[in-house]
Amino acid sequence: MKSMNVTESTTNMMMEEGYAMKKPRTSCGVKFYFAFLMLLQLAIVAIVAAMTWQVLDIGTHVKKADNGQSGGQVGVPTPSVPPKADEVCLTPDCLRTAARLIEYMDPTIDPCDNFFEYACGGWLAKTEIPPDSGRFGTFNQLRDDLTANMRDVIEDTSLEKGEEVVEKARTLYRSCMDVGLLDDKKEKPLTDLITHLNGWPVVNDTWTEDNWDRLDTLTKLMRYSNSLLMSMYVTADDKDSNVYILAFDQADLGLSSRQYFLNPDLSFYRDGYLNYSIDIALKLRGDNDRATVVQQMTDMVDFETKLANITAPPSERRDPEALYHKMKLYNMSDYFEFPWVDYVNNAAYSLDETITGDEDILNYAPDFFMKLGPLLEETDNKTIANYIIWRMVQNRIGNLGTEFLEIREKFNRDIFGVEPSSRWETCVSVVNSVMGTVVSRLYLPKFFQEESKAKAVEMIDNIRIAFNELLDENYWMDDATRAVAEEKAAAMKQFIAYDDYIVNNITRLTEDYEMLHFDELEYFGNVLHNMEVSNNETFKYLRKPKERSLSLLANVQSCTRNLFSFCRWITHPTIVNAFYSPSRNSISFPAGILQGPFYDGTYPRYLNYGGIGAVIGHEITHGFDDSGRQFDKEGNLNEWWDPTVADKFKEAAQCVMDQYSMYQFEEAGGMNLSGVITSGENIADNGGMKQTFRAYRSWAAANGPEPTLPGLDLNQEQLLFLNYGQIWCSKYRYQSAVSQVLNGPHSPGRFRVIGTLSNTPGFSEAYKCPVGSKMNPRNKCAVW
Ligand SMILES: [Zn+2]
Repeated sequence: MKSMNVTESTTNMMMEEGYAMKKPRTSCGVKFYFAFLMLLQLAIVAIVAAMTWQVLDIGTHVKKADNGQSGGQVGVPTPSVPPKADEVCLTPDCLRTAARLIEYMDPTIDPCDNFFEYACGGWLAKTEIPPDSGRFGTFNQLRDDLTANMRDVIEDTSLEKGEEVVEKARTLYRSCMDVGLLDDKKEKPLTDLITHLNGWPVVNDTWTEDNWDRLDTLTKLMRYSNSLLMSMYVTADDKDSNVYILAFDQADLGLSSRQYFLNPDLSFYRDGYLNYSIDIALKLRGDNDRATVVQQMTDMVDFETKLANITAPPSERRDPEALYHKMKLYNMSDYFEFPWVDYVNNAAYSLDETITGDEDILNYAPDFFMKLGPLLEETDNKTIANYIIWRMVQNRIGNLGTEFLEIREKFNRDIFGVEPSSRWETCVSVVNSVMGTVVSRLYLPKFFQEESKAKAVEMIDNIRIAFNELLDENYWMDDATRAVAEEKAAAMKQFIAYDDYIVNNITRLTEDYEMLHFDELEYFGNVLHNMEVSNNETFKYLRKPKERSLSLLANVQSCTRNLFSFCRWITHPTIVNAFYSPSRNSISFPAGILQGPFYDGTYPRYLNYGGIGAVIGHEITHGFDDSGRQFDKEGNLNEWWDPTVADKFKEAAQCVMDQYSMYQFEEAGGMNLSGVITSGENIADNGGMKQTFRAYRSWAAANGPEPTLPGLDLNQEQLLFLNYGQIWCSKYRYQSAVSQVLNGPHSPGRFRVIGTLSNTPGFSEAYKCPVGSKMNPRNKCAVW
């Protein structure tokens, strides 16, 4: 198995929230559950999802620029004579690319007034959000294409026919696709599970408080990776990234934002959620005792509202140092009486040893636990049981037949305005979530342009050089802090495209999934089985042998053979996203994002620098954003900043927060963005843009400019910014826009373009924007 649900602190490139009901866990950046949890999320609301986080790695150290060993193509002349600056490229590829740029843009808009509308106006006018999406953008298009290609290779049974691990993936896929069989089984798989979990009061009239064993129910749920009332997971110790540790955190909720429960202006969501639970409970009861159901589900949602109220909002959870509380497991009893040790041991039954009260743990939310005790005390067991079983039921509806899917579809339609995805999209996403590297093995040979891996390495090298140059020019850092920052940047490991073993070593791939056994006739059971296996594998991390020093990572081959190694990738290749991991100090660019419009081997370099180059710079900068900066080169939370310099950083970051807080998001009814929640991503966007622009200029200075594109009266630098603008073309349904503002660590595409470019002097120069115009304000924010 892959390192399934070990929770990793990771910051990603894209926005993922949409109308998902389950939010990614946030503490420093975004904490992700791994493969199986993805499956769980998919099951909750048939979301586009696309978040599969496994832990993998390749680790190549990039030498710093000034040692003359890396340098990519900076200063290295291309073999052919550089074209003249005024030359226009007329190859079929250039014509096609130019056509896309022209089609998406609206040249009637003044680029100095609103560059998002200028770059995306044509796209915005022509594009309808697909019925099954809460939002749509160039990103989503790429994801849709990826999903279709994955379907192609999963359904083409001639590929790797008979290969055990591939057949496993296809078995899971077929079990998901057979909705007719799920219809025949009706509610039985779910009711069997409910019985195993000691009943659901709202459905089982025979349920009595006296017979209910809360610990047993919570533990069994935990074994199926449902961590309810509070979160418990295994994660890298922030202050000793070499060690995995048990962590306790505040509860997550059945809707993606606590605001949906607490804000009276958003009561529409809470009401819809309540009605959904009522519809499901009535369906399972099979009678019409609506009064009973309404009463119990209302009590349940009231309880969840109180639970939401004792959680901290995302804006208060951005400082990893403030969240970090190391203690012993027995210290949890100081908060409230609960069989903590038994709970942990029952959940971690796959471990060969017993965990005692002396176990080191992290508590990310002491205030929450302080308030949880009294809340549980004042709530009757029936309501608590109704709540925790509901959350499990809610997660499993997607694994049932049409009758249940239709209830969920109604909920998603009424509340989030979206229609269901095609069944095959759902099932491809499920298989990619659970067995992403196997899907990748089929996908890569057919769809991945192999040369883009080397090209990405070249660009990363150049952007790292640019980062260092910007660091040298940075006005608020002192030399001592600057030197440590340079060391951290140099130690940053990079993972590009895919881990070679996926295509080279079928034996190892087979071993990765040897614990999984799927039955074509038991989709519901397959999902439960995967969650159980994932949970068991997770706890094994607690006794993971200590490894390394980062210097060992230079030896990629020895690294990748160790199941628990730091060198394993944190993601599989078939995903359109990019990542920075603070605890590993690594950047990852999976194969899925090394495609147009981010990257294409046929693009002139200026487009690639505006696309994937900006993504690369973004991820590097995450190592130095408000949260990432607190981790050192070894991935440990460790204050390496001089306090006066740290204050200057905060001042610069505050400028960015204030800037983005002013933005009003029309599609969300004019809500203001939260400059605090989005600060890390905004800092990364701004820094990334500056780095990639600088790296491109260095390349062009050394190699001469490439030809421009036909039909566009724009120079190379203008085209770089145009492509950047177009990777963020996007539109939202109201609900999705609201969700993005409430939870999303990323600003909406519109502001990623306007916010970033209005802070980028190179942009105003390229488009000759007058000082004081909207895209060239007198006062610009600059962190990096
Ligand atoms: Zn990011």
